Amino acid sequence: MQSIHAFYPQLTDPKKVIITTHQKPDGDAMGSSLGLYHFLTSLGHSVTVVSPTNWASFLKWMPGVANVVDFEASKEVAIALIKEAELLFCLDFNVLHRTKNLEPLLAELNCTKVLIDHHQQPQEDYFTYGVSNTAKSSTCEMVFDFIVGSGFGDKINTQIAQCLYTGVMTDTGSFRFPSTTGDVHRMVARLKDTGFNHTIVHENIHDSFLENRVRFIGYALLNRMEVLYEYNTAIMSVSKNDLLRFRIKTGDTEGLVNQLLTIQGIKLGALVIDRDEERKWSFRSKGDFDVNTFARTHFEGGGHFNAAGGRTDESLDATVWKFKKVLKQYQEQLQ
Ligand code: 5GP
Ligand code: MN
Repeated sequence: MQSIHAFYPQLTDPKKVIITTHQKPDGDAMGSSLGLYHFLTSLGHSVTVVSPTNWASFLKWMPGVANVVDFEASKEVAIALIKEAELLFCLDFNVLHRTKNLEPLLAELNCTKVLIDHHQQPQEDYFTYGVSNTAKSSTCEMVFDFIVGSGFGDKINTQIAQCLYTGVMTDTGSFRFPSTTGDVHRMVARLKDTGFNHTIVHENIHDSFLENRVRFIGYALLNRMEVLYEYNTAIMSVSKNDLLRFRIKTGDTEGLVNQLLTIQGIKLGALVIDRDEERKWSFRSKGDFDVNTFARTHFEGGGHFNAAGGRTDESLDATVWKFKKVLKQYQEQLQ
């Protein structure tokens, strides 16, 4: 993988571009993809964002989102576009399996591939150019750096600003995580100066749920949470039945794992959800407990130091049992 700087001369040469991201894209995945989409379009490229799956309804207001192709919903269209691509941008993920059913298509693709991402341990041999920096708050911050670094910073308009603001806001927990550097605030200042309304962005993301989702959160906290004080850990497991009962959709469980860390003294929060095809784990920690390594070691996952995910084919009960068993090794680290 060559440095992203080596790619800059190609920016002014209009191409057929595909931008893709991880499955079930979150605010940072969708924000960075759409921010880059608007930027590259303004330079004359023919750009399509292809998402491996659908996305949360709280992202449906984003500028350009109506043009995003959902691979699962529009396979033929997506396949035709991907096969014609001259340039592929991979945003907010760095290993192909994070694109779920898109993986085989991307694996055999023979075009220039560019990575912009902030997760650990990138699959570097796949990408032609790229930037991978785990110190960055968000992929949106990296797309901002990419645009400014290319010399086209003047192209950042209110549309791009709203997209990039969304991802940096969601990935920093509204500017509270340690990744929120001075550079993040300086970027936000520059985005804000384009004139968009950030209060509306916060409302669109955080205050757009249906009643059933709010009741589900209450139900899960009351009935599905277990606090293991000897390990400073809180765990929550959500069954398929819970999801059906509250008509839970993509995005409705976003942020739920953070609730576990609001309990005084809790250093590790672990949420497992019984999805159709797998049991999906979300891990969050405070301080020096490394959930990226924890997820990699025990649950086929990864992510960041304080926020990671994982998966298993085991049953819900079996994976919870395994979690409690492996937790014993970490008792000292969690004090
Ligand atoms: P979340 O818990 O919000 O799904 O994910 C937290 C972080 O871990 C995100 O940055 C996400 O990209 C990453 N992540 C989630 N699941 C997986 C996984 O199965 N594998 C890897 N490598 N990263 C994951
Ligand atoms: Mn991200």
